[in-house]
Amino acid sequence: MRRDLTLSDEQEQVRELAREFAKNELRPRTAEWDRKQEFHSEVLPLLGELGFMGMLLPEEYGGLDLGMLTYLVALEQIAWGDASVAITMSVHNSLPTQMILKYASEEQKRKWLPAMARGEALGAFALSEAGAGSDAASLKARAERDGDGWVLNGEKLWVTNGGAADLVLVMVRTDAPGERRGPRGIGAFVVPTDTPGYQVGKKEDKTGLRSSETVAIAFNDLRLGPESLLGQPDHGFIYALSSLEGGRLGVGAQALGIAEAALEHAVDYAGEREQFGQPIKDFQGLAFKLADMATRVEASRGLLYRAARAWDAGQPDMRLSSMTKLYCSETALWVTGQAINVFGGYGFMKDYPVEKLFRDAKVTEIYEGTSEIQRLVIARTLYQEKAAEV
Ligand SMILES: Cc1cc2nc3c(=O)[nH]c(=O)nc-3n(C[C@H](O)[C@H](O)[C@H](O)COP(=O)(O)OP(=O)(O)OC[C@H]3O[C@@H](n4cnc5c(N)ncnc54)[C@H](O)[C@@H]3O)c2cc1C
Repeated sequence: MRRDLTLSDEQEQVRELAREFAKNELRPRTAEWDRKQEFHSEVLPLLGELGFMGMLLPEEYGGLDLGMLTYLVALEQIAWGDASVAITMSVHNSLPTQMILKYASEEQKRKWLPAMARGEALGAFALSEAGAGSDAASLKARAERDGDGWVLNGEKLWVTNGGAADLVLVMVRTDAPGERRGPRGIGAFVVPTDTPGYQVGKKEDKTGLRSSETVAIAFNDLRLGPESLLGQPDHGFIYALSSLEGGRLGVGAQALGIAEAALEHAVDYAGEREQFGQPIKDFQGLAFKLADMATRVEASRGLLYRAARAWDAGQPDMRLSSMTKLYCSETALWVTGQAINVFGGYGFMKDYPVEKLFRDAKVTEIYEGTSEIQRLVIARTLYQEKAAEV
């Protein structure tokens, strides 16, 4: 791995630590986990020991408080080793921990954050429903007042970590039935998964990220105390969207790690495979392909790190987050597809690593906001800027 001169010594050390872990603990197992579709929760305390489950949390809650760039540098390397473990780490760090940190009571923070930072309590995030994906504000699951607490009913779809999690950040309607206040009628709740009425449903059989857990969950008269509500009862959607901005950078880092792995495999293979009496890397047509793959990986990294630096400077930039997610994910799909071509027929076989990377890359264009939604966000900001200039 080449030293990245744009990183500080500390960031470079974290990068090397994450790469070592990925190389020793994840790479040797990733193909088997994918084949068996097994989620491996035993990895979580190991990630916790390295500090990777609380990288964005302040030290008073057991975190390392290393900032967004350092976190993404580590996540990129974890994704290089196994993209499923990376999404587990990404969702946990970017969504539930951040929502609790920003909006929960001090009591809730003390209850959950130190255990989450150690990797002993795993978090999940449940916004999407069968009828509410890109249009998440149209969700239907509901919380009704019950004395000073709440009763939840409804269903959520495709919850990453949902079966293994200890707590789920859940977005549900809090407006009165028929009131339909859209995004302004949604609350966010911390739901411990051992609460009676919390049910785990179908585990998805996925194209990629097969060893990450994606499940449906249901709430059946699930009763919560008043302390489970985050902040204002009608601000949950805003809290969720603001966390997704950081989440999109996490997906960018995950995509980048996948692309980086595919590029390395392609470079190694092209140096070894001979046709027409010479290594295929010596054919200019193939060398140009490798050069284009490397260039797009580097461009993705430049965008990701720039967005992360803006975040760390206290100026998170929604447009940069969307551009990063869009560009890194589309790069990952393109680079992994090209890597299959470099491997030829072997690339299409499960005996070689690149077809899995291609499968893992695809979903980075879909979750935490599809590419189309990222383009909408980016285009909207262009016109907002124009209007502000007038
Ligand atoms: C593996 C996996 C894990 C996931 N994990 C989670 C999780 O942990 N928590 C969670 O809450 N959700 C999760 N999701 C859900 C994910 O966020 C949604 O799939 C995503 O937001 C898209 O919603 P949808 O699938 O309903 O697609 P739809 O919203 O139905 O979109 C279908 C197509 O229409 C396009 N489209 C929709 N609206 C527009 C528009 N306005 N303009 C242009 N095009 C549009 C989309 O881009 C897409 O191409 C996960 C999904 C997957 C696949």
